[in-house]
Formats: sequence, structure tokens, C-alpha cells
Amino acid sequence: MKRIYMDHAATTPVDPEVVAAMLPFFTENYGNASSMHAFGQEARQAIEQARESIALLIGAKPDEIIFTSGGTESDNFAVKGIAYARKDKGNHIITSAVEHHAVLEPCHFLEKNGFQVTVLPVDETGLVDPVDVKKAITDKTTLISIMHANNEIGTIEPVREIGAIARECGIAFHTDAVQTFGRIPVNVADLNVDLLSASGHKLYGPKGVGILYIRKGTRIVPFMHGGEQEKNRRASTYNVPGIVGMGKAAELAGEHMEREAARLTSLRDRMIRGILDGIDHSRLNGHPVLRLPNNVNVSLEYVEGESMLLSLDMEGIACSTGSACSSQSLEPSHVLRAIGLPHEIAHGSLRFSMGRVTSDDDVDTVLTVLPRIVDRLRAMSPLYGKKH
Ligand SMILES: *Cc1c(COP(=O)(O)O)cnc(C)c1O
Repeated sequence: MKRIYMDHAATTPVDPEVVAAMLPFFTENYGNASSMHAFGQEARQAIEQARESIALLIGAKPDEIIFTSGGTESDNFAVKGIAYARKDKGNHIITSAVEHHAVLEPCHFLEKNGFQVTVLPVDETGLVDPVDVKKAITDKTTLISIMHANNEIGTIEPVREIGAIARECGIAFHTDAVQTFGRIPVNVADLNVDLLSASGHKLYGPKGVGILYIRKGTRIVPFMHGGEQEKNRRASTYNVPGIVGMGKAAELAGEHMEREAARLTSLRDRMIRGILDGIDHSRLNGHPVLRLPNNVNVSLEYVEGESMLLSLDMEGIACSTGSACSSQSLEPSHVLRAIGLPHEIAHGSLRFSMGRVTSDDDVDTVLTVLPRIVDRLRAMSPLYGKKH
């Protein structure tokens, strides 16, 4: 059985060229990049080259890039680091209901520690309205954090407009670009951002490495203490292989992005059409156009997401669900709730996220297998039986 991986929003395979670039830094060039000898300096050079590749991809200056342990750390660093750096100016933060937990949880933490947080709603396609952002601003607002694209439903937010509002008001603006970095154009000047998070493993790089872009002149309170790395802003011995891998992944993303985004967009739209036309009582979640090229998120009524996911898995197809019937809370994902899906529809949601390995044939297979699984599960569903 050919296995089909449609969960690239969760993680991606490491590109063999990335692995090849990383390998020497485990065994030959293993120096500590902070050491003055040749071993250390070789590692140092490789790090600076990676920093340049990443800066180039997002239109930043190399010294505005800080290496971290991943998207989660970058989000935490941005939110807490800015909140504390601007504590004397105010204590109010604005974010949205569809952010990744790596942004929402630090915001909740700050709320318990004397900060105020406004969590903006989104419309039924997942969009934050820049007008709402403007209305939420007070003279105490120091930080706005709105993601570039949502990891579950793929909606691309109006970051550029929100950034312009933040700038006009002198408020720091952070965006979580983990899902867009290397997939669609991300340019820190175009997007009007002061801080931007990205992760290596979502773009064919290794796990455990990420970056935070910090616009020159933006004061931030460090999160990690204990060393002078990254100009005293992020202590800990450099993860040289990881950083080199993320740099190489950024280079490759730059080369592939345009062609790959166009290819995936057409696969995506064919798959969405195929599901909506081929399966009754199905709907698309997220925005139809302002959408990540690789994201398909659908709800299929009268079936549980987890039952479909497990049935698909048995046929070698890997995807994910925002349903959580077996989890403790029984609550569907916060994103599906934020776009206003009734529980029974949210519980039948599936996310397929495509990538470089995804082919036309893979889409055909899903379009053949999924309707069969849905039919079988619906036939067993008392809910469906009653209505049909
Ligand atoms: C995956 C993801 C993260 C977390 O990144 P890690 O590198 O896995 O810590 C943060 N935000 C978004 C939108 C993501 O998709």
C-alpha cells in the first residue's frame, strides 16, 4: 500500500539536501560556535550564512534574525518579551481567537500576571477585521499579535493592514508566520511587522529550530538567560546542525516557492471541488480564496472526524481533525469554534495539508477513498439514519 502523507501543516519531511548540509556539523565541524578556535569559527560562519539565507527570504537584515528552538519559543519570546519590555508604557495586548496556542497561552499567562488581553473574534471564514483591531486599541496597548495564516483552516489574515494600524499608533506588531514562511511570499517590510515567528520543521527543515525576526530598534526582554549568544538576547549553545538545516531549507524554499505554490493551489482547489461535489452534506472551512495553497479543511456532517481519520489511516492516508471526541474536553478545536461551527459540524472536520511529495494521483486516491469511508460511517450513524 502506498502511504499518502497529507499532514504537512503538522510537520514536513526533511529535504535530503537539507540533511546533506547538516551532516558535517554533527561529526566534522562540531565546534561550539562561541569558541575562538578554528572549530568554533567554522560553525560560526555556517550560522551566519544560514542567518543571511533566512533574512533574504523575508526581506530582513541578518542581524534582525534570532535563532530559537522553534515556533513555540519564538511566539512565547515575542509575546512575553515585548509585554515586559513595554510594561512601563502599558499592559494591554490584542490578539485573535484563532491564534496558535503558542500565542494564546503566553497571553493567558500574562493575564494572570497583571496584563489585559483582548481576544478579537473572526468572521465565518476565519478573518480578523482590521477595523476591530483599531477599535480595540487603548492608550495602554503595547502589543498586537495576529497570525499570518491559520494552521487549521488555512485562512490568510490581513496582516499588512493590521500592521499599518499598529505602526500608526506606535504599537509593536507580531505575526506568527510559521505556516507561511517558505510557502507563500513573506516580506517583513510589506507586512509592516516588527516581530515574526517561523519554524524549521514546517518547511522541510529539521525539528527543534526556529527564528524570531525582531525589527532593528525593537526592545525585547530576553527569555533565556545564561549565555551571551545572539547578542545577549537568547542564551544557549547554538544548535549548529539545526540552524544550518533551517538556512538550507530557506534557500530551497526560495527556489521552489512560486512554482510549488501554484501547483499546490490547483491540487487544493481540485480536491476541495471533488469533496464538495462528491459528498453530500459537506462544507469547506476557512476562506475560499485567502487561503494557504496546501490547506483543505472540510466538515462532513453525521460523521466523526476521528472515525474518518482512523479509517483513512488504515488505508494509508494521513490527515488531521479538529474534532476531539476522545479527548477529555470533548470540545472541538478553538479555531472551529471561533468561526462559529455548530458542534456536530465541527466534530466532522478533517484537515488535509499537502506538500512537495503530494501528487495528482494522491488527490485522486483521497477523492476515491474518502466518499466510501463517509458512506460506510454514515450507514452506521443513528443520526444520519433518522434524517435520510
Ligand atoms: C507548528 C506551529 C507552531 C509551533 O511551531 P514549533 O516549531 O512546532 O514549536 C506555531 N504556530 C503555528 C501557526 C504552527 O503551525
